[in-house]
Amino acid sequence: MIGVAVLGSTGSVGENTLDVLARHPERFRLVAIAANTNAAKLARQILTWRPAYAALADERALPELRALLAGSPTGTRLLAGPAALEELAVLPEAHCVMAAIVGAAGLRSTLAAARAGKRLLLANKESLVMAGPLLLAAVNASGATLLPIDSEHSAIFQCLPAGWRAGAAPAGLKRLLLTASGGPFRDTPAEVLATVSPEAACAHPNWVMGRKISVDSATLMNKGLELIEACLLFGATPAQVEIVVHPQSIVHSLVEYVDGSVLAQLGAPDMRTPIAHALAWPERIDSGVESLDLIRAGRLDFRAPDTVKFRCLALAQTAARAGGLCPVVLNAANEVAVEAFLERRLNFPGIAAVIEAVVERSTGGAIGGLEDVLAADADSRVRARERIVGMTRTAAVRGAHA
Ligand code: NDP
Repeated sequence: MIGVAVLGSTGSVGENTLDVLARHPERFRLVAIAANTNAAKLARQILTWRPAYAALADERALPELRALLAGSPTGTRLLAGPAALEELAVLPEAHCVMAAIVGAAGLRSTLAAARAGKRLLLANKESLVMAGPLLLAAVNASGATLLPIDSEHSAIFQCLPAGWRAGAAPAGLKRLLLTASGGPFRDTPAEVLATVSPEAACAHPNWVMGRKISVDSATLMNKGLELIEACLLFGATPAQVEIVVHPQSIVHSLVEYVDGSVLAQLGAPDMRTPIAHALAWPERIDSGVESLDLIRAGRLDFRAPDTVKFRCLALAQTAARAGGLCPVVLNAANEVAVEAFLERRLNFPGIAAVIEAVVERSTGGAIGGLEDVLAADADSRVRARERIVGMTRTAAVRGAHA
């Protein structure tokens, strides 16, 4: 039995992971689950799975969780607070840790799992974007196994020669072709983007995902973060990674080798495929995903991304080239701007404007240790918030004069 901890179990990736685990009770045992504030969903998961441990990062939600479980002895030890996630990430009973917390909040627990030598299933791309060199060094030092969950990186991994290890450049690699659906605004005229709502931005044409990554997909920042992730994971330079818009989301990414061969991984757009792949690797297990019907799909289209309309992608490409702390600054500004957009304090083009303003004023620098990453993250968040307040004031003044 393989013990599994799912950090971010109440989210989209977390629930998909539980779905795959439920199909293989003879193979996997869910030992720990964790969320932030969603006590109701976590309580339902505890009652269904009866894991040994469950945690809420936000202690204020713990009384609600206790109340929901009162009278139902589950044998589950309840923990709370951000440090509880790190505790679950290093449990001896958990051989495998699914890092499915969204954003920078997942960094410490992801690092803890890497240091503890776990099989680390990495959905939380932000931790790699922020602290890639530290995370990869921890994986190498502990002998952990880092397996990508992003469908694009899972696709690339599946096209690599056996024996590849995270951070190393695969032998004979020429280019990585990272596919992108283009998001819900792929064909929306640029002048309309100022009026799009958070609901429209979260209505992804091919994938059902959490709100933050959905907005990232709509701005193409998600592809930018994935570019940085691909460079770190596969030892590639940004120039070796080409972004290709592929509206059908059937070809999940491709690898070109020096001999001209291009290998691709295809499948229905369903996160249970990369999740099942990483859980069972190097074996294959049923994921519940429907078969790919190429005849029904009919065609596969590819085109170049529009980095003028989707400025976030261009900003991420610049940060990827700069390296060091630049991706940390980019990621932090993006998280703050996306949150403001979801709360209707910022319009859609404002996301790129905020990030650009923060990135332009940043001095970058090298990553010496985790404290550098955390300081750059905190500083960029302050700057991004100031910028949003400034933009809101300017808009209010303009409104008053109109
Ligand atoms: P969701 O928003 O659906 O879920 C996020 C999870 O993280 C929830 O369990 C949430 O708990 C928890 N969480 C949020 N904030 C905190 C915090 N401060 N401390 C601890 N836990 C927290 O996100 P997704 O599942 O969509 O995405 C998760 C990660 O996977 C992201 O990094 C994303 O980029 C990546 N990813 C997602 C894909 C997808 O298909 N969804 C595809 C590829 C990558 P609560 O419910 O209590 O808020």
